[in-house]
Order: sequence, then structure tokens, then C-alpha cells
Amino acid sequence: MYPNNLPNASIVICFYNEQFDTLARTLHSVIDRTPAHLLHEIILVDDNSDIEGLHNTIALYIKANLNGKVKLHLTKKREGLIRARIIGADLASGEVLVFLDSHVEVNKDWLQPMLQRISDNSSNVVTPIIDIINADTFQYSASPVFKWENLKPGSLRIDGDFVKPIKSPTMAGGLFAIDKNYFNAIGKYDPGMNIWGGENLEISFRIWQCGGSLEIIPCSRVGHVFRKRRPYSAPDGEDTMTRNSLRVAHVWMDEYKERYFKQRPEALRTQYGDITSRKELRSRLGCKSFSWYVQNIYPELLSNNNTVGYNPLSKDNNYIAHYQIRLSNSGLCIASEKDVKTKGSLLTLKTCLRIKNQMWSETERGEIKLAQYLCLDSGESFPKLSKCHEMGGTQEWKHKNQNASPIYNVAAGTCLSAESASVNSYINMQICTSQSNKQWDFVPLYS
Ligand code: UDP
Ligand code: MN
Repeated sequence: MYPNNLPNASIVICFYNEQFDTLARTLHSVIDRTPAHLLHEIILVDDNSDIEGLHNTIALYIKANLNGKVKLHLTKKREGLIRARIIGADLASGEVLVFLDSHVEVNKDWLQPMLQRISDNSSNVVTPIIDIINADTFQYSASPVFKWENLKPGSLRIDGDFVKPIKSPTMAGGLFAIDKNYFNAIGKYDPGMNIWGGENLEISFRIWQCGGSLEIIPCSRVGHVFRKRRPYSAPDGEDTMTRNSLRVAHVWMDEYKERYFKQRPEALRTQYGDITSRKELRSRLGCKSFSWYVQNIYPELLSNNNTVGYNPLSKDNNYIAHYQIRLSNSGLCIASEKDVKTKGSLLTLKTCLRIKNQMWSETERGEIKLAQYLCLDSGESFPKLSKCHEMGGTQEWKHKNQNASPIYNVAAGTCLSAESASVNSYINMQICTSQSNKQWDFVPLYS
């Protein structure tokens, strides 16, 4: 049950070259599943898409079918999602801003629980649980990543606990709701960021360090199409993820930025533009330090042997299991394509044999090492063998330790998958589902 007097919302959706049907699904789901008195407007920002005729098609469709509900704006040049969202937010006149990607489907009663939290306190920034829309079939399914088990022990004692907001150190990025005045007060987004990447961390750190709070609202659910690869790049080929991450590191992370440079030494040579006004914003708002953030908002990071808390000198390996990784219902196991000491080697399926290049050892940190040497790493597009960096992320894996288990990578958010159940087929990373090519058995080696 939700109160009647919730604030109304402007839904801001920016897009670049979005497929028309997918965009239409987004718009219709919002209109169908949002109580009319709460839907102040939908602001659609076309970030200068260059698909011939797309803008016109959308403009005509809106006029014929969604007139009065959707306001379409075209940017003069390609801005990237960060500046396009700022433009959309500046055009909005509702009390709450809700940012959505252009390829989503909002679920039943998705908006009310988020608005309620914001009306409780305007510095609560909230996100829905992000469900999955399959990029091949466009079918909606519940998020396999969001699991109650991941919560701290003791979080779920009474029924009411299952609908409570869950504090979160960061947001995924695409989908969230924020009081409009609060968004403006804490400095919108960083307009110096280009195209895509890192803005979710920037706004997450900023919200926490500057006195707000960030929560996941379990009763609000929105499906999102997770694509296999991003279908666009920056116009000038710039690595905007690195540029934008550098801006985050220099403005918000204090001495902790050194840890980022340690992991990405080449980033030190990347240009990241002028950050003076963002540093001024931080001091004007009197925001807390990054070490306060780490200690108070994400203390698990320090105790987990994880990225920030890791000790580069510790080389001790506490192995908790040794096994072959067998594709369920097959006689095929994951093996390195090249020698076990070849960095960058891809992985393939081979007939299961107790040979070195099929012998995996799992450490306490969730690493999976081949022949106790190189680490299984989720890589950029294909999983591979890499030098163990002991910082979790792309080398941290989770599984159920039972037959027919998915093997999930923490940084990629995807699971190990065989291209097919045949010898020599490659292993890749795919959205986690219960398909047979993503189910693995752990065959113990020394028992
Ligand atoms: N987008 C945009 N301009 C750009 C890049 C992206 O307006 O230059 C839009 C994109 O169409 C989408 C949203 O920003 O609606 C988020 O981008 P995307 O979905 O590609 O990011 P992902 O969900 O893959 O992280
Ligand atoms: Mn998206």
C-alpha cells in the first residue's frame, strides 16, 4: 500500500541509435504501468542518433500515439549519455527525476515504492532491482544476480525485512530515481565526462560522501536489455571509460586513487580534462573523504581481501579446493588452449583427463588458478589466463559448489559459458541463465 500524496515524476530517457521497437516497448511500459497522476512527463532525449530517419519515425509515432505524454528533444550534437541526461533533467519540471535506459521494461508498481522513499527523505537516492531482458529473445526474467543470500546475516528476520530498502555502496548506473532539487543541489552529473562509463561511480561516491544515501528498493523492478557488446563507440575513438574513471579518481578518491593507478598504470598517460569545477563542488558541499566512505559505507571491502583492502605483499595461497571443471552431462572439461604458463591463453573444452591444463585450484579469495599458476580472468570478451592480481574483480568467481552450478564472475556480472558442447569449442562469458551450456560440475582432484 502506498500513500496517495506521493511526489510526481519526470522520466528522463536518453538514447543514441536505439532500435525503434525497443524504445517503443520502454515508453509503453512506462505509460501502462505508472499511475497517471504520478507520471508528470516522459522526456526523451535523442542524443543526435545518426540512423537515417530514426528521429522522424519516433517523432511521428509519438505524435500519433503518445501525444502530450512524451516530450522529444534532439541534441545539436552527440553529447554522450552523461551530458544528454543533464540536458533531459534541465528540461524536466516534475518533482522527482527518474533516469531510465532506452531498452527497458518497467514492471508492475515499479515507481510508487521509489517515490515513497524519496518523499520520506529527499536525499534518499533509490534504484530498482534490475531484471534481465534477454538480448536474443527479448524475454523478461528475474535477476539471477540479486539474491537475498548476499545480504549480511541477520538482515532478514521478519516478513517486513523482505521489502525494506537495502543500502548500497554504488549503483549500476542506468536506472535510478532522485529528488530533482537534490539532484541539482549535489551537482547533477559531471559534464566533463564523455559518452559512457564511470558516471555511476561518480554519482554514487558523491551521494554518500556529500551526505545522501543510496538504496536498492526490492519492490521496484525494471528489466533491462544487457547487450553482449556495446553497439557504439565514441565519435573520436576515445577510451571514455578510462577518461571518466580518471575524473572520478582525481575528484573523489583521495589517496585511494593510487590503487587504481597501480592496477591500470597506463591510465596515468590518459587525458581527462579540467576537473577544477568538480573539485570546487566537492569543497563547497563539504563532502567527506573517500576513506570515510570506505570505512563507513563499504567496510566489507576492507575485510574481504578485496580491491581496496588487498595486501600486495601477500602471496600466500590458501587453497580450498582442487578440481576439474566439467560441462554438466558431458565428458568435456575446461582446459587452457595453450600451455598452463601462457598468459592470455583462451580456454576450450577438451575430453576430461587428469592433466595439468585441466587442473584448477580455488583460493579463499574466490580465484580459480590453473595448475596453481595463472588465474582464470573474465577478460574483455573471452575469459583467459592472467597473472593473478589478487584484487578480486575479474579474477573473483562464485559458484554453488555442487553439480550443474553456474560459475559467476563478480566484475563481469556474467557466467562461464561453452559456445557448444563439443571438443575445442571456446569458453565465453554470457548472461547467467540455467541453459545447459552454462552448467558446470566440480570434479574433485585429490579425493
Ligand atoms: N546513450 C546516449 N548517448 C551515448 C551513449 C549512450 O544517449 O553516446 C544512451 C543509450 O542509448 C542508453 C543509455 O544512454 O539509453 C545507456 O547506455 P547503454 O545502454 O549503452 O549502457 P549500458 O546499459 O550498456 O551500460
Ligand atoms: Mn543499457
